[in-house]
Amino acid sequence: MTENRTGVAIVLAAGQGKRMGTKIQKQYLELSGRPVLYYALRSFEQSDRISRMILVTGGGQEEYCWKEIVEKYRFKKVCAVITGGKERYHSVWNGLQEMKRQGLQDAYAFIHDGARPFVTEEIIERAYQEVIREEACAVGMPVKDTIKIVDGSQYALETPDRKYVWIIQTPQVFSFPVIYDAYQKLMEQEKENVTDDAMVVELMTKHPVKLVKGAYENIKITTPEDLLTAELFVQKIFHEKNGKTKNSY
Ligand code: C5P
Repeated sequence: MTENRTGVAIVLAAGQGKRMGTKIQKQYLELSGRPVLYYALRSFEQSDRISRMILVTGGGQEEYCWKEIVEKYRFKKVCAVITGGKERYHSVWNGLQEMKRQGLQDAYAFIHDGARPFVTEEIIERAYQEVIREEACAVGMPVKDTIKIVDGSQYALETPDRKYVWIIQTPQVFSFPVIYDAYQKLMEQEKENVTDDAMVVELMTKHPVKLVKGAYENIKITTPEDLLTAELFVQKIFHEKNGKTKNSY
C-alpha cells in the first residue's frame, strides 16, 4: 500500500536572489538569528512523513551548507548536499537524479523552495494525504486580490473569476515516476519560463495536478519587504509557542 511510502524533500537553495539586492543570497540571510534556509529544513526534519532531505545549493556553497547549516543545526535527514543549475528547473532535475542515484524512487518527491521558511508540518501532512490519492499535487492558496491578464503594453485584457485563481507555493509533491518522466521530457526540449514543477507535469504529461491549501504565511522571500514580513511571522510563531502552540523556533 502507498500509505507506507515516505517522502524525500528536495530543498532548493541554488538561486542567486538578484531581486533581493543584497550580497548574501536570500536563503542565507538571517531571520531572528538563523538562516532563512534553516526554517524549511527544520519543518521537514520534524515531519514523520519525510525520511530524507536533499539540499540543492549553488556551486561552491556545498561545504558551507554542510558545516554551517546541516551540521550546526543537526539536520539528520539530509543525505546529500548537491550543486544546482542555472535555472530552478535545472536544480530540481539535479535533485531528482540524486534521488534516483540513491535508490529512492519509491518515495514521494517533495520539491520545496528553500526561500519559503514557513512551510509547516500540517502543510506537509496535507500534501502527503493528497499525493497518496493523486500522485501529483501542489500547495497554494486562492488569491485575495483581483487578477488581470494584461497585454505587452499593460492594457487590461481579461479579469478571471477569482474563485478559479490560486497563487502557487511549495512543496509540490509527486510520485517519482510522474515527476521524473515529466522532467526528463523537459530536459530534452529546454523550454523557457518554467517556474514551477506542476507546470512541468502539465506541459509534459497528461497527469492532472491537484491543488492543496497551503497558508498565506507560506511566503517566498524574494524582495526586501518580504524579509520584514517574515521577521514578523517568526516573532508571532515564537510568541505563540511561549503561549500555547507546539511550534518552536
Ligand atoms: O527564483 P525563485 O525565487 O523563483 O526561486 C525559488 C527557489 O528556487 C529558491 O529557493 C531558489 O534558491 C531556488 N533556485 C534554485 N536554482 C536556481 C534558481 C532558483 O535552486 N537556479
